[in-house]
Parts: sequence; structure tokens; C-alpha cells
Amino acid sequence: MGIIKRVICMLAVASLIVGCASRGGLSRTEYITLEATGYCKCQECCGWKRNLLMQSVYAYGDMKGEKKKIGQTASGTKAKPGHTIAADTTIFPFGTRMKVPGYGWGTVEDRGGAIKGNKIDLFFKTHKQALEWGRQTVKVEVVMP
Ligand SMILES: [Zn+2]
Repeated sequence: MGIIKRVICMLAVASLIVGCASRGGLSRTEYITLEATGYCKCQECCGWKRNLLMQSVYAYGDMKGEKKKIGQTASGTKAKPGHTIAADTTIFPFGTRMKVPGYGWGTVEDRGGAIKGNKIDLFFKTHKQALEWGRQTVKVEVVMP
């Protein structure tokens, strides 16, 4: 193993993306235990409300009062049930693929104020489905982009 590869490996380990040594290099698939909750595009899940002009705006936070596109992710894509995952993008950047037991393959395309560290949020079609998912600790297959 060359020195550059060694350094890359050490950096990867330092940023919690472990396992490159055991697989001998190119594979970036990891199994990571994460705490998964569910969300949908509703006001309760995404913190928006209607202003006096009936426009949808952020209800709180840094963007309070700014227009919000309902159902649009932080990466600009349309949130899709069974696909869109919100994660801490300092650890799992947009485009990270995740196979979540009980949810299937999804892609990190969103983030949220409470979604930090080992927490992820799975997008569902309805609020009822998001509630039914609840909060589950799952072993997730993660493929870094
Ligand atoms: Zn909801």
C-alpha cells in the first residue's frame, strides 16, 4: 500500500467512513447502525406554514418567513417516498446511497435541523406512514458517492 493510499485510508477512518483497509481499497460500501425516523412533506414534519397571502413559508429557524417550496429537498430535488433520505450531510453528503431495512434503497437528498450524526430521516408519502415507521435503530448499507 502506497503512502498516499495510507493517508486516504487514515482520513477515511477519521471521518467515520471505516472499513477501506479490510476491503482492500475501492469499495466504499459500509454497514452503519443509524437511528431512523420518518417524515413527510406536511407542515408538522417540515416546519412550514401559510402566510397572509396563502404562500407557504418557513415557520421557524434561520429561514423564517422565507418562501418554501413544499416537497422540495435541500438539494433541490423533489422528495419521493421510498427514495428520499435526510441525513447529516457533513457525514453523508448528498448522493450517498443507503439501503435501509424495511424502507429499501434510498438516496441522501435532504437534511434537517434535528438530523445530526447517526440520525437519518426517511421520506414517506403520508404523515400516517411516517408515524407508523416511528423511530427505529437500523443497520444501514451505505454507499458513499
Ligand atoms: Zn408529516
